[in-house]
Amino acid sequence: MTVLDTRQRDTTLRELQNTNFDLAIIGGGITGAGILREASLRGLSVALLEAEDFASGTSSKSTKLVHGGIRYLAMGHFHVVREASLERKRVNELAPHLAEPQWLMLPAGNLMEFFKYRAGVSVYEQLGQVESRDLHVNLSGESLAAREPLLDTKRYSRACVYREYLTDDARLVLANIRAGVQSGGVALNRARVSGVIKADGRLRALHVRCGVSGEEIVVNCKGAINAAGPWVESVCDLDGLRSEKPLVLSKGVHIVIPHNLLPLKQMVLMVGRDNRPVFAIPRGEVVYIGTTDTRYEQPADLWPEVKRSELEYLFVPIRDYFGVELKLEDCISTWAGLRPLIAQRGKSTKEISRKDEIWISKSGLITIAGGKLTGYRKMAEETVDTAVRFLQLSPDDEPEDIPLPGGDFTGDVEEQVSRLQLQYPMEESAALRLFRLYGSEAWDVMALNPEPVSDGVSIVTGELIWAIKQEGATTLEDIIYRRTRAAFYRPLEVADIIEPASVVAAAILNWSEDQRIAEAESVRARFQADSEIR
Ligand SMILES: Cc1cc2nc3c(=O)[nH]c(=O)nc-3n(C[C@H](O)[C@H](O)[C@H](O)COP(=O)(O)OP(=O)(O)OC[C@H]3O[C@@H](n4cnc5c(N)ncnc54)[C@H](O)[C@@H]3O)c2cc1C
Repeated sequence: MTVLDTRQRDTTLRELQNTNFDLAIIGGGITGAGILREASLRGLSVALLEAEDFASGTSSKSTKLVHGGIRYLAMGHFHVVREASLERKRVNELAPHLAEPQWLMLPAGNLMEFFKYRAGVSVYEQLGQVESRDLHVNLSGESLAAREPLLDTKRYSRACVYREYLTDDARLVLANIRAGVQSGGVALNRARVSGVIKADGRLRALHVRCGVSGEEIVVNCKGAINAAGPWVESVCDLDGLRSEKPLVLSKGVHIVIPHNLLPLKQMVLMVGRDNRPVFAIPRGEVVYIGTTDTRYEQPADLWPEVKRSELEYLFVPIRDYFGVELKLEDCISTWAGLRPLIAQRGKSTKEISRKDEIWISKSGLITIAGGKLTGYRKMAEETVDTAVRFLQLSPDDEPEDIPLPGGDFTGDVEEQVSRLQLQYPMEESAALRLFRLYGSEAWDVMALNPEPVSDGVSIVTGELIWAIKQEGATTLEDIIYRRTRAAFYRPLEVADIIEPASVVAAAILNWSEDQRIAEAESVRARFQADSEIR
């Protein structure tokens, strides 16, 4: 069991202050989290500093697919597809609870489109070494109507259905950070890097400000890695040098609707009016739909504004494919994230490659940007290799690839869910939700307190305690948005859990009554902003 105990922040701050680290990582999204795990497994001394909460940037707002990016086949990027499809297998091995194999339907409006999909999927499966039980099926007529009764089969008379993996982005980040800490790394959220200290022109330490106590500390390191996602340029600015590779930000919006408004049986990939892919993903009691891809001209923001026109853009394919007319008030929640893309002259955000790049500034700041959630492990390997070479570090030999926390179980997920239900009687959907979020640690969570946070909700009190004592949650928003994921997949429960969850958190974290009320108000305001786009 690994510990990121919020009550021990002071001890972590002292450790950060008193160690000369091989590497300091700036940014606790999936890129930084993967690097922390990789570097710690190789025996390097490493610290990760996150300005806000772990995964509070893009890494909690993706489509949550660990996928090979089939659309890159059309661009001829075979190596990207091959690498990504092999990586999704690796994630499934390391954390089977966080990589759920799901069928994804590609409905085709004409024969040409169908042949294109079928050929693409076949190549995709070969590149990704897909096992025979997971190979695609081609459907038409009655078999298609039975498979997805909602689909307008007059308009989309054929489909290809193939396997992709669904993850939980924020929990994948947490699992990697906790794995890094388990292997000796140090990680702190609400620890903003505010400056760089150099000696003889080389980066030697970072100024860090604790967002909870306000304390300023200096973290000494042989080298630093800038993994700040959409903020990499502002971290380059701290280094006093402009980023060598300018970034372009692209905003992607998702909407969340109740499952009963669009009761899909599987994930569906549609084509939007501008030829962009739009996913509809059923997840428990909701379906989320996304995403848009528009250039974001403002400075990077944790909560990019969601516009009415973006919701309306996402309604169009739902009407085209399923004949369902969505309205603004059907959206019970939304989220928007920023893709940090490396600018390519003359290309729109839709055309820019999602490939990651690593570069080193004159002072030795190593920056990694671009890339996808899916490729995070490989990106981490390459970044640590670069750091080891450049800083002449002495890592251990090839690390043993141990499962991520919660991923150390045998047998399939269904078996584990039945076991959990046997010990803690509850509905299958509730047990499945817990197991998907916590894996084998679901038992530890339940042992803390198996009671629902409020009558009729699926979130249990043990999750709140676990979030604070094991996963570094410092605010109520951390708990509701990025630990229990209630705001994303259980939006209808959010109103009921804010008050009781704030009471539990206040008791553990010694919040005053004023602070407790402020925390609850802040989450209410955040959630209202996400759900009331008018
Ligand atoms: C809408 C959308 C859908 C997507 N869907 C998918 C998908 O389905 N599959 C897939 O593989 N990829 C997907 N992606 C891409 C993927 O989500 C991103 O590539 C990935 O999350 C980027 O992670 P990151 O760690 O680089 O950035 P982030 O997650 O943004 O992390 C950067 C972190 O750095 C921190 N930071 C910034 N400045 C400082 C500082 N001064 N000090 C300390 N910390 C700092 C920030 O607070 C932030 O937490 C999607 C992206 C978007 C936008």
